Amino acid sequence: MKVIVLGGGVVGVTTAYQLQKDGHDVTVVDRQPVVAGETSWGNAGMVAPGHSFVWSSPKAPMVLLKSLVLKDQALRFKFSSDPKLYGWSWLFLRECTSEKARRNTLLKHRLAAYSQSVLQDVIKTESVSYDRNDRGIIYFHRSQEALDRGVAQMKLLESDGQLIKVLSRSEVVSLDPSLTSAKDEIAGAIYCPTDETGDPAKFTRGLADIIVSRGATILNNTNIQGLEVAGGQIAGVRTDKGSLKGDAYVLALGSYSPIIAGQIGINLPIYPVKGYSLTIPIEGHIQPPNVAVVDEHNLVAISRFGDRIRVTATAEFAGYDTAHKPSDFEFMKRVTQELYPDGGNYDRAEMWAGLRPMTPNNLPCFGKRKYGNLFLNTGHGHIGWTMSHGSARITADLIAGRTPEIPMEGLTS
Ligand SMILES: Cc1cc2nc3c(=O)[nH]c(=O)nc-3n(C[C@H](O)[C@H](O)[C@H](O)COP(=O)(O)OP(=O)(O)OC[C@H]3O[C@@H](n4cnc5c(N)ncnc54)[C@H](O)[C@@H]3O)c2cc1C
Repeated sequence: MKVIVLGGGVVGVTTAYQLQKDGHDVTVVDRQPVVAGETSWGNAGMVAPGHSFVWSSPKAPMVLLKSLVLKDQALRFKFSSDPKLYGWSWLFLRECTSEKARRNTLLKHRLAAYSQSVLQDVIKTESVSYDRNDRGIIYFHRSQEALDRGVAQMKLLESDGQLIKVLSRSEVVSLDPSLTSAKDEIAGAIYCPTDETGDPAKFTRGLADIIVSRGATILNNTNIQGLEVAGGQIAGVRTDKGSLKGDAYVLALGSYSPIIAGQIGINLPIYPVKGYSLTIPIEGHIQPPNVAVVDEHNLVAISRFGDRIRVTATAEFAGYDTAHKPSDFEFMKRVTQELYPDGGNYDRAEMWAGLRPMTPNNLPCFGKRKYGNLFLNTGHGHIGWTMSHGSARITADLIAGRTPEIPMEGLTS
């Protein structure tokens, strides 16, 4: 078939790769001059099934309420005139029972773990260089009480096969001596040795080159304006460069999927949640991170991509605004600098902001919706790089009419 993939982020490109493997003629359409030009560019690069906990937990309503009055660095929720925010928030709050949080977390972990195995298959067969680091991820806490709570919470993922080790402060520092000067700040950690990191944009661009070399088409600088509908099917894609026709279509526009889907009567509960990142060149500094960390107290994630450090933080409800200013990064920069005083050239950090395509239950939207030849693969939220590879395989399976390799109950609506 001729399949048109709408969106050239990590989700769109991995989907195109899996579709091409199945023998389809694939075209990817994206408005940016290169693939991975939006959210898939600046994320923390964590391939982290160990980070599968959903945000919609019983604690979330209080956290949201508090952020309205307190100036919180990690979560910025504020009143807005956007009715979509309130519709989405209502659906989000309905997912915040302990029963739903547990169920959604396990579904997400199933998809994330499967996705990591698909990624590992891909890199066995394809030569993509993306600054992979397979030394695990350290999720550290700053107090014993928080560590104890974290360990108790982690039992859920452990029961689903996630490998974890609880580390004392000294064990954290022996695992990564670059944390030595912050030793007294760390109470201990949960270490997920099978989690990994890598630069998602480098990966996406490398994979895009591979599929193009095998005959796929990538149409960059092409703005999708809408979908044409005829007889219960998608008949074409309207773009600023003309119309495109395929046999099947995959919607992978990240936070922008609901805008295009909404025009043809598909209501997708995806809302953009803004996050910020810094990319810091190491430039000869002698104690950069060697193992990725999540500072669970400050909710700052830090990865090492070869000669760069990527730091991410903050969940902000600001609609489709990706603007940023230096003060947005002060807190995350200070936290990183305190952990790794000689980690990199902090004066030359590159600033970025992007939008996580969040669904209320934190699970992506898959499968056919309303039209026989339109397949969704979108709404991957805060761990979309992690879930993209498996989601791509699942989408290719659904298009082929094959049963996906993991149970899809709870994952397709
Ligand atoms: C601060 C931050 C940290 C994160 N950290 C991690 C992490 O450590 N691990 C992890 O797994 N995930 C992480 N994520 C989440 C991850 O980045 C996203 O889930 C993932 O990138 C989503 O990929 P996508 O392809 O769906 O969306 P995008 O990358 O946004 O791709 C969508 C594409 O659609 C294109 N597009 C949109 N509208 C149009 C249009 N009208 N016409 C043409 N093209 C259009 C855009 O140009 C874009 O390239 C993080 C996100 C943020 C913001």
